[in-house]
Amino acid sequence: MKQDPEIFAIIQKERERQTKGIELIASENFVSDQVLQAMGSVLTNKYAEGYPGHRYYGGCEVVDLAEDLARNRLKQIYNAEYVNVQPHSGAQANMAVFMACLKAGDTFMGLNLSHGGHLSHGSAVNFSGLMFRAIDYSLNEQTGRVDYDELEQKARAERPKLIIAGASAYSREWDYARIRKVADEIGAIFMVDMAHPAGLIAAGLLDNPLKYAHIVTSTTHKTLRGPRGGVILMGKDFANPWGKTTPKGEVKMMSALLDSAVFPGTQGGPLEHVIAAKAVAFGEALQPEFKTYQQQVKKNAAVMAQAFMDLGYKIISGGTDNHSMLVDLRTKYPDLTGKVAEHALVAADITTNKNMVPFDTRSAFQTSGLRFGTPAITTRGLKEDKMPWIVELIDTVLQAPESETNIAKVREVVNQEMNQYPLFAW
Ligand SMILES: *Cc1c(COP(=O)(O)O)cnc(C)c1O
Repeated sequence: MKQDPEIFAIIQKERERQTKGIELIASENFVSDQVLQAMGSVLTNKYAEGYPGHRYYGGCEVVDLAEDLARNRLKQIYNAEYVNVQPHSGAQANMAVFMACLKAGDTFMGLNLSHGGHLSHGSAVNFSGLMFRAIDYSLNEQTGRVDYDELEQKARAERPKLIIAGASAYSREWDYARIRKVADEIGAIFMVDMAHPAGLIAAGLLDNPLKYAHIVTSTTHKTLRGPRGGVILMGKDFANPWGKTTPKGEVKMMSALLDSAVFPGTQGGPLEHVIAAKAVAFGEALQPEFKTYQQQVKKNAAVMAQAFMDLGYKIISGGTDNHSMLVDLRTKYPDLTGKVAEHALVAADITTNKNMVPFDTRSAFQTSGLRFGTPAITTRGLKEDKMPWIVELIDTVLQAPESETNIAKVREVVNQEMNQYPLFAW
């Protein structure tokens, strides 16, 4: 059946890599077999530009059912009034919001990238920083938490049209109500990008940003444990809060602006096979087991952060409220860069990523930090009793990151243990 031995050998190799290691990248997860099957289905053959009931192609009546199911389940999870499940990725979802809310050159505000913000929140090499005027807010150096005083001051001084909350490397809950208040004061749109904690929010373990933000975006493949993709949502209280007048003088509601910003604004045909897989994942997120899973994700992260601190590592902000944590290596190993640490851990089959820490003294290429997260290992079935064991393995590697024998010893222990946690059913 496999007519392409080259690529299928590569897929097999990646499958083995995923199976034998400890996956600690905070933005990754393992999807269910049902999600995989939906993604690898015949729905990939269908063109369906437009939205259910309003397509530019014939024969869309079946994929309409899948997209409607995805939309309805997503609305149910977050108590949303409006959703769009077509963005190909989190960055695409954000781009559509920029298109709908701003004109080129308009000012917006997001969390500083070296303090945990995302590329699409104003990086100079991303569309957000290239086409718009990006200003940032930061973390407080002492607390490691968002400096809301600075955020408010800057918002009042610069009057951005859009304020973005949400991050890629931030382990704490947000004060959404406070940001909404200043956004209202200056007439800004408040968007929350919940790409990372979306699964914890779905399970009710963190505050639901739809209660506060005008617009919420997310990825579907991080804690939410769905296929790689993006979504846009709006909550009940703030559905269609404003209209914007088009050049022709018509007033368009925000939901219509967002829909047309996704298609035809920034994308062509939707990935209906991925949308079907999103529907499967949303269905899973509505089951009681999903809450149990997310509770375990959170518990594992808390225990892991404590285990790091017990060994003398500094965790930014001193702990975690979610699935992730950022380790500042400088406290325990002042000479060790994130780059060298990542490389050594990956060689020991412990996958993680280097990350800048707030007020880092090294470049983004070297960094002084490592980011860890528990969604993937929790899917794998590891419980909190294993977290101190993992942290000890990490510390063993970092004590001698250049030692091949040291790394090989840890790798053997890792492979042997992970053998006991089957990953794929087929
Ligand atoms: C991961 C992430 C994204 C982007 O997701 P992609 O699917 O990789 O485009 C956007 N925003 C935040 C905060 C993220 O962490």
